[in-house]
Amino acid sequence: MWYEDTVAAVSTPLQTAALGVVRVSGPAALSIVGQIFSGPVQKAAGGTALHGYIRDGQTLIDEVVVTVFRAPHSYTGEDVAEISCHGSPFILRWVMRLLIGCGARAAAAGEFTKRAFINGKLDLTRAEAVADLINSETKLQAASAVGGLRGGIWDRIEPIRAELVGLAAQMLAFIDFPDDDISDLSPQTIRQTVLSALGQTQALAEGFDKGRVIRSGVRVCICGRPNAGKSTLMNRLLGCERSIVTGDEGTTRDVVEDSVVIDGVKFVLSDTAGIRRASSEAERIGVDRAGDNMRAADLLLCVFDASAALSDADRSFINEALACSGRKIAVLNKLDLGQAEYDMPGFDSYVRVSAARGDGAEELRRAMSELAGCGNLPSDGSVINNLRQYECVVRAAEALQRAADGAAPDAQLQDIEEAIDALGSLTGRSASEDIINDIFSRFCVGK
Ligand code: GDP
Repeated sequence: MWYEDTVAAVSTPLQTAALGVVRVSGPAALSIVGQIFSGPVQKAAGGTALHGYIRDGQTLIDEVVVTVFRAPHSYTGEDVAEISCHGSPFILRWVMRLLIGCGARAAAAGEFTKRAFINGKLDLTRAEAVADLINSETKLQAASAVGGLRGGIWDRIEPIRAELVGLAAQMLAFIDFPDDDISDLSPQTIRQTVLSALGQTQALAEGFDKGRVIRSGVRVCICGRPNAGKSTLMNRLLGCERSIVTGDEGTTRDVVEDSVVIDGVKFVLSDTAGIRRASSEAERIGVDRAGDNMRAADLLLCVFDASAALSDADRSFINEALACSGRKIAVLNKLDLGQAEYDMPGFDSYVRVSAARGDGAEELRRAMSELAGCGNLPSDGSVINNLRQYECVVRAAEALQRAADGAAPDAQLQDIEEAIDALGSLTGRSASEDIINDIFSRFCVGK
């Protein structure tokens, strides 16, 4: 479907900057820009840049460069002109007003990318990768998003879908013309194809958790007994005074959260209340929250004041920590005060540190990075990245499971078609209008 109208938006932040870009896309893009720009935009070949002036009647507004793209060789697949102005919000708004006066419409959020999708330049997973790339904050997030943009997920989904479409076509022929010897489709062949597709979709669903780690970061809970040095450690890892450090027990009551990037991976650190029998209602709530946080964490940094021998209270904290599902590092703190011998069975790793002085901090960062499996995180964009994609994969896997379990070819075919539909809505081949609108509404204006 080709759009009939032409849209325009400021594609850079509306802030004072060296440059600001106004993008115009649609069938009338070049003629509209031609009305306010001094250069020969309408005659320009695709991929050329023209230097000239934007005028409002007789008034000179800005000296600009206009880059011309011709359909279908542009981001949206339509004729596009990008006007690089000087980055004054006032000028950018003025240029927008002029374009609208000449017949352009202000683009909605994500409209350029939506046009690219509708015009077949991107599938939905690539469009979502565009949003991920814009929002990326770490090296891993950026690498994963750019991999997605190159088709990481599409490349894994499309072969499964194509295989199932082939199978469904054969089954349909078989059901419609059972007497014609048009296919040698045996129940075993059907089952084999279904099981292979099932295995691949299940693997994709399992990868969702890795996607979460890339996107939202590794959830780290800093936990331990009061005064073990949790807040000092949090501040050490963050490189700033985020948590309040005092010698009084029970200072940290609510969970204090902040994030840090280690080896290109985001870690979301939570400093929790010290685990002990609380002396007040507020502290009791803090201790409960600390427990919840420990259980939800991917990685626990269990901090001990190792200048003293392990107490019974330490041992009961260890038992609580070991019952949690996340990976666990025993952080033996206060190395500067001299340390007792510690035996830490059940922990994945242990590190001796002085949170106050900084000794052992590098070693701790390395252990965190190793235990979070950062080296194994895929950065080729092939992991399921959001709940929408995840739900599609799960729906496909459930349908394929039913097809694998079912015996009647009619019912089997229905389940296979359901799986094809689920995979198609993941890539956008069969996504509903509502889903498409929802995805693009989360983009920024100008993208
Ligand atoms: P939290 O209650 O576990 O959060 O512990 P804090 O971080 O508030 O620290 C408790 C006390 O231990 C404070 O007086 C800190 O200055 C002190 N402390 C923390 N880490 C170290 C360390 O590595 N060496 C020494 N000597 N003192 C520390």
